[in-house]
Amino acid sequence: PPVILWFRRDLRLADNPALEHAHATGRPILPVYVLDEATEGRPLGGASSWWLDKSLRALSRALAERGGRLVLRRGDAETELRRLIQETGADAVFLNRLFEPAAFARDADIAHALNADGVNVKGYNGALLCRPGSVRTGSGGPYKVFTPFFRALMASAEAPPHTLGPRQFQPVPNLESEDLDDWRLHPTLPDWSTGFDWTPGEDGAREALSRFTSGPLGDYARLRDIPGQNGTSRLSPHLHWGEISPWRAVTAARDAASRGKVSEAQAEKFIAEIGWREFSAHLLAEFPQITDTAFRPEYDTMPWRKDEGALEAWRRGRTGYPIVDAGMRQLWSTGWMHNRVRMIVASFLIKHLLIDWREGEAWFWDTLVDADQASNAQNWQWVAGSGADAAPYFRIFNPITQGQKFDEDGRYVRLWVPELARLGDRWLHAPWTAPPEVLRDAGVRLGHTYPRPIVEHDAARKRALDALKSIDKTK
Ligand code: FAD
Repeated sequence: PPVILWFRRDLRLADNPALEHAHATGRPILPVYVLDEATEGRPLGGASSWWLDKSLRALSRALAERGGRLVLRRGDAETELRRLIQETGADAVFLNRLFEPAAFARDADIAHALNADGVNVKGYNGALLCRPGSVRTGSGGPYKVFTPFFRALMASAEAPPHTLGPRQFQPVPNLESEDLDDWRLHPTLPDWSTGFDWTPGEDGAREALSRFTSGPLGDYARLRDIPGQNGTSRLSPHLHWGEISPWRAVTAARDAASRGKVSEAQAEKFIAEIGWREFSAHLLAEFPQITDTAFRPEYDTMPWRKDEGALEAWRRGRTGYPIVDAGMRQLWSTGWMHNRVRMIVASFLIKHLLIDWREGEAWFWDTLVDADQASNAQNWQWVAGSGADAAPYFRIFNPITQGQKFDEDGRYVRLWVPELARLGDRWLHAPWTAPPEVLRDAGVRLGHTYPRPIVEHDAARKRALDALKSIDKTK
């Protein structure tokens, strides 16, 4: 009988521990993907659906090239697995674990139930450098601060051997499989008309990594903060969907350094960012509530405003602050936003508009191709000041000076807010300060071609600080 290889967010053949172990049994492998939104805790966002569709096509092709066939099923995961077991006589299921609490618990229940019926369920870690729970402080508790966590992570992480996956799959009996087209995962949003040229799937992931290590990595520490430059890896959706293992990324950066192509410091900076991904995942596993509750409970007494008009202006990139609007439009058009700008737009929503970070988190969940429960929640709470190792709330980003500093030549704003493209650098990040003739010459009519600021910076800053003073510190 065959063994089942249950794909989830490990959509790759290389460096795939579950696949390696399934292969080692010497039995035919039955690769399956089950679309089961109900029990993974949170329905997929629009951008994630788009990515999943493309990534499954890529995986299907890669398997077909090796004589295998990806079987697609939809519905309750346990029911579908049981059906496959009945149809094929399979007596083992191999999988790479998901570490989000809801998915982890769901998998544990399934494993328990199948084991009881004599089907062996084997789980591996293919997603993280270290399994959550395995990196603990001297007294055995979870780390709440990044730097010591990262040190311990790298000290305990052991690189698994790199593998390419089986060259050939043995045929398994012809089984019914659904058609991806029927799943209708192509979302109506985001609007990809000006989108990046994403290539979901394992090959696209590897290309992104090699583009990065042979180029921007050499100057990463500086370039990573400049949204107008293509200076980061854009690996986030590939890592989220497991199209590449974090080990590959770490090893590639180390190799580039050891071959003298980049300095040690640049490689380490990049590896530290991979470390933030791990930190987020470990925090979520240890503190499941952080997706919807402030890690520091007093922050849940913040007097958030309900302001649908302001929230919608933020979502659509119509706040009147060019760097904020550029970011929100990049997100809508490409499913991705530069990290520096994510911090600026998040701060603007939380502090300038005094709108609950959960509203922003939900919008990101729907529109990001890298939407990830752990990284999204951890970063939103970082900006909100309510997270484990967070930026202090009172440090309020000024969207004007942030724009001037990190988009000095205006490349980013001009690309995403074309109605301001002809405005000079001096005025670009605060168009309302430009003299009328300058605006006229640039073809800008504030309130018509581009919005006036929806809040005034100094007043908004004061309101945010007053709100901080009012929170209930006894919580
Ligand atoms: P690079 O600079 O090339 O970094 C390499 C990898 O390191 C990334 O692919 C990512 O996996 C990881 N990484 C980098 N920065 C962070 C970080 N701050 N936290 C966690 N991991 C990081 N990232 C997500 O993957 N999913 C999210 O849902 C998400 N939501 C965010 C929400 C907010 C408000 C903010 C401020 C940041 C969020 N991030 C999220 C983190 C970060 O912005 C992205 O990971 C990064 O921009 C991805 O681009 P890149 O792959 O080019 O990054």
